[in-house]
Amino acid sequence: MNLLLLNPSDFISENSVRLTGRALKHVLDVHRAEVGDTLRVGLINDLMGEGVITSLSKEFMELDVALSEQAPEPLPLTVLLALPRPKMLKRSLQHLATLGVKKIILLNSYRVEKSFWQSPWLSEEKINEQLVLGLEQARDTFLPEVIQEKRFKPFVEDRLPELMEGKQGLVAHPVGGSSCPHQVNEKVVLAIGPEGGFIPYEVEKLEEAGFDRIHLGARILRVETAVTAITSKLFD
Ligand code: SAH
Repeated sequence: MNLLLLNPSDFISENSVRLTGRALKHVLDVHRAEVGDTLRVGLINDLMGEGVITSLSKEFMELDVALSEQAPEPLPLTVLLALPRPKMLKRSLQHLATLGVKKIILLNSYRVEKSFWQSPWLSEEKINEQLVLGLEQARDTFLPEVIQEKRFKPFVEDRLPELMEGKQGLVAHPVGGSSCPHQVNEKVVLAIGPEGGFIPYEVEKLEEAGFDRIHLGARILRVETAVTAITSKLFD
């Protein structure tokens, strides 16, 4: 945790907060902080700055906070992610939030197991927990928007065209296509497949919607590795 994310409900006066739970545990166990120490803090969807610990116990801690810095620029990237299994979903959400992606669409695909859509990790609360971990890692405050699209075809045909306006569409697929472009100066919508990959029909539907097929070489990467590698090539 490189930044402690605060919620408006944490404030007990204009410039001081009281924290319990996960944040307190982290500060005690990992930072081993003491009264008088300064921590990096940020208010969710707002400014960042510093907090000085004024009181610390096993029950709660209080900090005086000063918020004046802007969060880093978001990445001009929307990610369409075929819904991964819960363990990978958690990691992928954290990675995407850390990288600065602000719009994530979890998409159904033929090779997504139906049971993944029943996962408790898809509740808004659980998704936000992972996003907050990613933001705290990156030192960012703005929560990405996460949309769930449980039907591939209606999404691609009816809602994707509007989402694509003014953006370049790229579908990451290990076979065919061209090498992932470098340093694009455009907004991008990037589609990443499930563990089993997109089926040919899905790649074709995305191509019909204006996506270009791109690859990162012959090695098959995990979803979160693929997204990280592609992002760093696109927005060096
Ligand atoms: N077994 C699948 C691989 C799936 S990997 C197959 O052979 O197609 C999961 C997703 O990560 C892929 O659908 C793709 O979007 C992305 N990915 C992984 N490795 C990649 C590579 N070398 N190039 C482009 N995309 C890749």
